[in-house]
Order: sequence, then structure tokens, then C-alpha cells
Amino acid sequence: MSNYSNFLEKIYHLLPYPVQNTAVSLFGRKRWVHENGRSFQTLVRKLQKMQHSTPERIASHRKAQLEKVLLAAKKTKFYKDMLPSAENIIKDPLLVLESVPVLDREQVRMNFESFINHAFKGKLIQHGTSGTTGMPVQIMWTEDCIDWERALIWRQRIETSLRFGEEWRGMLGGHQIVPLKQKKPPFWRINRRAKQVYLSTYHLSPETAPAYYQALTKFQVKAIEGYPSVLYALAYSLDRRGLSFPLKGVYYGAEPLLDFQRKVIERVFSCYVWDYYGLTERVASASEFACKNGLHENWENCYLEIVDSSGKPVPEGEYGELVGTSLSNLGFPLLRYRTGDMTRFLPGECSCGRSSRRIARIDTKREDLLLMPDGSLLSASNLTFPFKEVEHILESQLFQGIPEELEVRIIPAEGYLESDGEKLISGIRHMVPGSVSVILKKVDAIPRTKSGKFRFCVSEITHMEES
Ligand SMILES: [Zn+2]
Repeated sequence: MSNYSNFLEKIYHLLPYPVQNTAVSLFGRKRWVHENGRSFQTLVRKLQKMQHSTPERIASHRKAQLEKVLLAAKKTKFYKDMLPSAENIIKDPLLVLESVPVLDREQVRMNFESFINHAFKGKLIQHGTSGTTGMPVQIMWTEDCIDWERALIWRQRIETSLRFGEEWRGMLGGHQIVPLKQKKPPFWRINRRAKQVYLSTYHLSPETAPAYYQALTKFQVKAIEGYPSVLYALAYSLDRRGLSFPLKGVYYGAEPLLDFQRKVIERVFSCYVWDYYGLTERVASASEFACKNGLHENWENCYLEIVDSSGKPVPEGEYGELVGTSLSNLGFPLLRYRTGDMTRFLPGECSCGRSSRRIARIDTKREDLLLMPDGSLLSASNLTFPFKEVEHILESQLFQGIPEELEVRIIPAEGYLESDGEKLISGIRHMVPGSVSVILKKVDAIPRTKSGKFRFCVSEITHMEES
């Protein structure tokens, strides 16, 4: 599967520009036709109704779906002996689930075949995760599982006033859609049918910003979706040129959005930045709605828990790692999968009237924690503050190889002065223990993960501590 996509990608890059547009449209067309078809649209409408369910209805849906998932898991090699009899599963699925140990990425990577439910053999779609830390892992999705996740995204977009297929959307992802050697615009390709402009994230800079601005104007783009770091790079580049472009909304996912990034994006695009939480493993998702009160658990398709470092659920409302179980991926059931994302359940009822649980916006990944020499952990998000005070920095990253040293990598922007760097370092020194030496390192580029994701913090030690 992935070899085939690599092959297609190579061919794609050999095509002339207008043909690439046709290719993007053709690839996008299949999905667009499917998502505008009757069964998918029925699912979207069903989800629009379900979001207003009572707590009783939510509980009964969860019980029924968990039963299906556990019975499917019982058919896999990995869970066959771990799970009790079918009778016991049916009696109390939630209790059974809670008796299953939490699962981590490494276990899935090492035992990939053992998670396949062979009743679905030949009908599963394989997909790799990005490997933000460590090795990427392969996952199998059922068609149902893909549809549910996509329909949940549709629901969130509809609820936040985006009109699918009627208004042009800018897409800023990790895909390399424009050859790197191309130095002149257009740095985008279009999917006319779905009204999507795929903007290349690899050609973005203050120099190329006016060309991107022209594309947004030409297609009358109303919303942009993408990774936070790339949305920020676009907003920053436009901002440096004194350009702004009002939109109806910006949508992000896949990485946490840092406060200083949000400020620039909201200023340049004069709109709110909406959060949708999901991951390739498809075990957990949550949506931000107009209530803007944390993210509502997408209970229709997943069951979320928050656990401590030993895998035990934390007391109600406390901070911990998010663990998720998909309720629709019966072909590759992953139970209580550790997402690596840190959050907590928010107390109280929501003003919007939805009864679903809410989680706090995720701004920290497990690997975003820095290990201090005294053994305490410091969230990298806390260290973003000094960056807000400093100008002329295009990108930055915190890197920790040993507890006693913190490397601050920066790409200087136009107009950068040594005093900017000194100010930044002194700001960070004030926020970490005196035993940590803070070092500034100017770099030409900050490497992305395999799927093009940017990471603000890379700690090689907190992650090692985990295993
Ligand atoms: Zn709400």
C-alpha cells in the first residue's frame, strides 16, 4: 500500500503543472463523490442529531459499541487470551475494558499482525503514523472507521459555519504537492470539485508570501485547514509583508497550537482558530464547537480515559495522559491506546447543552516535558512565554539531550539582532532552574518529522524515561 503511494507520488512529480491539478482533482474526486453520497451524508446527519443526546443515551450507545469492539478484539491473536468469555463481555463491557492493560505504540509496532481481526481481511486500509517520536507504526482502518472520523470532522465544520463544497478552502498539510526545485509560483494545486487549494508548505517564506496572498484572493478562500506550525508560518510570512486576509475560520489539528502562534494567526486572518483533536490511530477524537469550552468527546466513535504514568485512571478532573478506544474500528481493535497527549476532563456541564464530556485543549505531548536535574518535569508550553517578547525569529525549537542543558534552536528572520537572541535566552534562564545551562543555537532549518510535522520541543530524555 505505502509502496504504491510512493510510486504514485513519484509519477505525480513528473507531471506538468496543469496535469498535476487534474491529478489532485481526480484523487480528491473519489473521496468527494463518496462523501457527498447518500450513506455518508446520512451518517453526518445522524451525528448532528446524536450530539444532543442525553447522558443515558450516551451510556447505552457506549455499552453497545464497546461490546462489539471487545467481541471483535476477542477474535485477534493479541487479545484472544487476555479477554474473558463472550458472555462476560456482554454482561458488562465497560468493566471488561477497564481490566485491560493500557496499550502503547511500541506494542502495536512489534505485534502489528496480532491486532488484525481476520474477519475483515482484504477489507482493511493500511496507514502509517508519522512517528513524531521514535518509529512510525502501521495501523489498519475499516471503511466504517474512516467514514466516522470524516463525518465527525464534517459535523464540526458545519457546526462552526463552514459550507463544504460551496466555499474554497485552503489546505496546508504535510504533503509535498509542489516539487521542491520549483522556484516560481504557483506553489499550490487545486481540487476544483471540492473547492480545495492545496498550498505547499515547503515553499513558504516572507519572500513568497505575496504569491500565496494572490492565490487566496484568486480563489476567494474562506477557510484554511492545516498544521499549527504551518498555519503560523503562513500568517507570519504574510504579516512580515504587512498583508492580512480575513477568513471565516481557520481549522487545525495534529499538533498543539502554541499561544503565540494563535495570536498571529487570529490577527492576520481576523477569525477564530478552531481545534479538532484526532490521531492516525483513530482511537480518540474530540471537537471544539461554538461554546469554545474545551473539546467535546466524540463519544459516538471513541471512549476516552485519562491515566497516570502507570496507566491507572487519574481522579476526576486531574491531569494525565489521554488514552482512547475506537468504537468503530472492528478490523484492528486497539483497546486503551496511549495517545502521548496530556489533558484533563473539564468539570461541570457545558453552556451549549451537549451532555458529552469535555477535555481541556491539548497543548502538551508527553514528549513536550523537559526533565530538570532535580528530576522534576517542566512543560515546554511554559517556556513559550519568552518567545512572545522577542521579534525577528522565524522558527524555534527547544532541544534537550541531558537534564543540565537546554538548547534553544532558532532560525533568525530578516532584521535579527544579537540582542534579540540574548533577550530570549535571558527570558528562558529565568524560567528554568539555575543548574540548567541555556544555549542559543542559530540554525538554517528545523527538521520536520517524516510526515512534515513540526515539534516545538524535542526531549530525548523524558521519552527514554518512559520506557
Ligand atoms: Zn459545549
